[in-house]
Amino acid sequence: MTAPLLSIEDLRVHFTLPGQGWFGRGKQVVRAVDGVSLQIGRGQTVGLVGESGCGKSTTGRAILRLAPIAGGRVVLDGTDLASLSPDALRRVRRRMQIVFQDPFASLNPRHTVVQIIGEPLGVHDLRPPGERIGRIRELLDLVGLPSSALGRYPHEFSGGQRQRIGIARAVAAEPDFVVLDEPVSALDVSIQSQILRLLLDLQQSFGLTYLFIAHDLAVVGQMSDEVCVMYLGRIVERGTRQALYDNPQHPYTQALLSAVPYPDPAIEATRRRVILTGEVPSPVSPPPGCHFHTRCPIAVDRCRTEVPGLRAVGSDHVAACHLATGAVAT
Ligand code: SF4
Repeated sequence: MTAPLLSIEDLRVHFTLPGQGWFGRGKQVVRAVDGVSLQIGRGQTVGLVGESGCGKSTTGRAILRLAPIAGGRVVLDGTDLASLSPDALRRVRRRMQIVFQDPFASLNPRHTVVQIIGEPLGVHDLRPPGERIGRIRELLDLVGLPSSALGRYPHEFSGGQRQRIGIARAVAAEPDFVVLDEPVSALDVSIQSQILRLLLDLQQSFGLTYLFIAHDLAVVGQMSDEVCVMYLGRIVERGTRQALYDNPQHPYTQALLSAVPYPDPAIEATRRRVILTGEVPSPVSPPPGCHFHTRCPIAVDRCRTEVPGLRAVGSDHVAACHLATGAVAT
């Protein structure tokens, strides 16, 4: 990979829950993100996947400083964001945008489309006031909405159309990097593919770099050059799309992949489904050793005490499992 556009190193996000005892005693620390590192090359997409509550959305928000960072570094285009003054950080933020999961909740219901998409143009002073309306029309056209949408409110649109408005708002800021936080999971399947196509077209047109967050490995696979699998605040496997989908090494990735339907019914009928038992442990008190050992179908004694680090299991492919060998699973 050439110099990455975005690099995060040992990122940590901890939330403190108030204690139930006298004077707030018994506070608990939730390690929502616990030492995540990844890099994204310019114009590339990295997928971040895992069950709900694994810390993937918090990671995306922490990169944009929408969640408090307890440790680690976020570097955009060679600049450590922690080293910036508030003014400089505000300028850099324009280059980093987000598209949220719930297009309805993320749009101000009292604002018209022209106000919603026009906001980043005004905040970042991207166009002279007289040119803004023309730019908003262009952006609507880019995301496949008619100019007649300008004066309407979010509730007057379908879920897919609202997501198009959210995407237009993100693109209006002329970003380099966009966090796509479950951008299609609230939409009907038929609409999902249209929105994914739109995101790919915009990436090609503007050279955008994406962090694509989702719980569905099938969707992540369609969009990503590289995929990171998260469990309880940590990345447990990372690889190119091909390496990870053809030869998953971590039992958690294998279980997630086994749940993805295969398009060929004959192959689908012969596939082995890995059913994970047990609940995802609480990030307040994760299990010792490998965090996954309480649900892992192949755990051995050392898994209960020794933390597995990420190690190479192939070319551009790492996994955090004591038993991963790199060999193709049978
Ligand atoms: Fe399972 Fe042990 Fe590997 Fe963890 S380290 S995924 S418990 S085999």
